[in-house]
Amino acid sequence: MISPDQSSIGEGIHERFMQLALRQAEAAMAEDEVPVGVLIVRGDRVIAAAHNQREQLHDPTAHAEMIAITQAAEALQDWRLEECTLYVTLEPCPMCAGAILQARIPTVVYGATDAKAGAVKKKKKKKKKKKKKKKNGLILTEFFQRQRRLGKK
Ligand SMILES: [Zn+2]
Repeated sequence: MISPDQSSIGEGIHERFMQLALRQAEAAMAEDEVPVGVLIVRGDRVIAAAHNQREQLHDPTAHAEMIAITQAAEALQDWRLEECTLYVTLEPCPMCAGAILQARIPTVVYGATDAKAGAVKKKKKKKKKKKKKKKNGLILTEFFQRQRRLGKK
């Protein structure tokens, strides 16, 4: 569970799950895929782990996030992933950010920003970026929650 107070979040847990996401990214690299790995966690249970498979599946939508979201929904037998946290090694692209919104995943933790294709962080907000960035490089965003509060329910 994610505490509403961001300052009290146990970074150890995030680090542990991000390590597993990184392992997925390594698996992608070993398969000559762009190395992106994703983990979806509910409580402290991992319900999905996936990596980018665009080349293998000949599918432009086979990003790690898309595959993991499908797995997680299957695991829960519910498309609403409202109590889940998604860990991804790279900032999600617009397609995946859309899918994360559709799945109602409230919290996303990502390891690196993607200046080229990232859809989460706005480039203007460089000051905030520094603040949000944890010392271990993990970035926790409530972007999706905020988006929904703005009426995108
Ligand atoms: Zn994507």
